[in-house]
Amino acid sequence: MPLGSAFPHPGQPDAPLPQRVLLVENSRAYTSMLREAIEQRVELPVSVASSLAEARALLDAQDDWFLVLTGMVLADGDRDQILDFFNARNLSTIVVSGVYDEELRKRALQQQIIDYVLKSTPDSIDYLVWLVQRLERNRRISALVVDDQLSSRSFISSLLAVQGYRVASVADGNSALRTVEADPSIRLCIVDQEMPTMDGIELTRRLRQLRARDRMAVIGVSGSTDASLIPRFLKSGANDFLRKPFSREEFFCRVSQNVEQLELIGTLQDLATRDFLTGLPNRRSFLEQSERLLAQSKSDDITVSILDIDHFKHVNDSYGHEAGDQALRAMAQTLLAHTRPGDYSGRFGGEEFCMLVHGLDAEAAHQHLEALRKAVEAMCIDISGRPLKITISIGACRRSVEFSTLHKLLGEADRHLYLAKAGGRNQVRGFDPE
Ligand code: GH3
Ligand code: MG
Ligand code: MG
Ligand code: MG
Repeated sequence: MPLGSAFPHPGQPDAPLPQRVLLVENSRAYTSMLREAIEQRVELPVSVASSLAEARALLDAQDDWFLVLTGMVLADGDRDQILDFFNARNLSTIVVSGVYDEELRKRALQQQIIDYVLKSTPDSIDYLVWLVQRLERNRRISALVVDDQLSSRSFISSLLAVQGYRVASVADGNSALRTVEADPSIRLCIVDQEMPTMDGIELTRRLRQLRARDRMAVIGVSGSTDASLIPRFLKSGANDFLRKPFSREEFFCRVSQNVEQLELIGTLQDLATRDFLTGLPNRRSFLEQSERLLAQSKSDDITVSILDIDHFKHVNDSYGHEAGDQALRAMAQTLLAHTRPGDYSGRFGGEEFCMLVHGLDAEAAHQHLEALRKAVEAMCIDISGRPLKITISIGACRRSVEFSTLHKLLGEADRHLYLAKAGGRNQVRGFDPE
């Protein structure tokens, strides 16, 4: 994906992660509300069991389990048996309980239970949906813990791991700088103040030279009661500060808040640069990226192309506007699959798309666009059981002395697109001598 956004985007391929959520609860009404809320708002598949035996059968039949939410009153197991059952299977578990029980809460939070939630509070469903979504997203976020003390380092790392983050840890500032420099996926850094050679405030200042506040959150931690510490951390570029010792819940709230702030900034960036329907870069973003590349590269092996779906009005007319939207999304996926690293593509507007191919000579660029045209022709879009086929026409223009600016390249590509339409559609133009 040419566009960097703060967080992975739905249009971006991710490594497959477990998806299934298991709800274990004997109250049918609560389960069906929660199930519906998770399925609709987080879009994860939910299975329901009302006993440990049913849970066992479901767990054995599938192995795509991401998370368990379990009640504490089941016909075939007491509280300890329930906790041991999921613990033994190493499943991330949230306890959802009808009654507040301090003993149970302590025990639950000691084991690798993510949270203990009271279902009697009016907003428990909203909280659980938020939590499930948070945990789901955390799996794609890398965090770094920097602390010279092994015990503290492992404690913080384990807190982050329980919340699903990918965690690395180091014992000093220089290793931290090296790690962050080498790994652009790190979005969160927990930095201890009291460390030999480089203290946390100095490290924060240097981390900021590597990555801006809207790309990585830095949270300072310290056991010191020095009142000047918090403002100094914040002025050095930290997003937040936590005083040791902190509770697991306080830590979770602070970290989540900071991560959500980054996500919000990422979303705002996305809104400005992405097309809402397809998730592709929008016209402005494509133009900006392409202008930058043309300014930086001296190469003539740059091909700009405009792709237009053939007779798209007919698709809307005979299948409906919603089907048209589905076709546009399918087209975007195929375009994305044919966008090589370093190349740019986008939705130009309506049923027009665009692509810039970089580093291929005329012959190879032509073949590349032909392959894309054929891939679109081969797509079969399923519109409620009714197959829909589409084709595209492509106009291209290679950079040259005559066509040196983006404006001229697009103008010439558009002229070739017109020729492709006039020549019968479903074809690539711009490479053949006229
Ligand atoms: P040609 O082969 O000459 O390109 O014919 P065409 O029908 O594709 O071209 P025309 O420009 O006449 O029509 C484009 C249609 O695309 C008209 C418009 O309603 C439709 N369209 C544009 N944006 C969207 C959209 O976001 N969703 C849907 N469903 N249709 C769209
Ligand atoms: Mg220390
Ligand atoms: Mg058009
Ligand atoms: Mg068209």
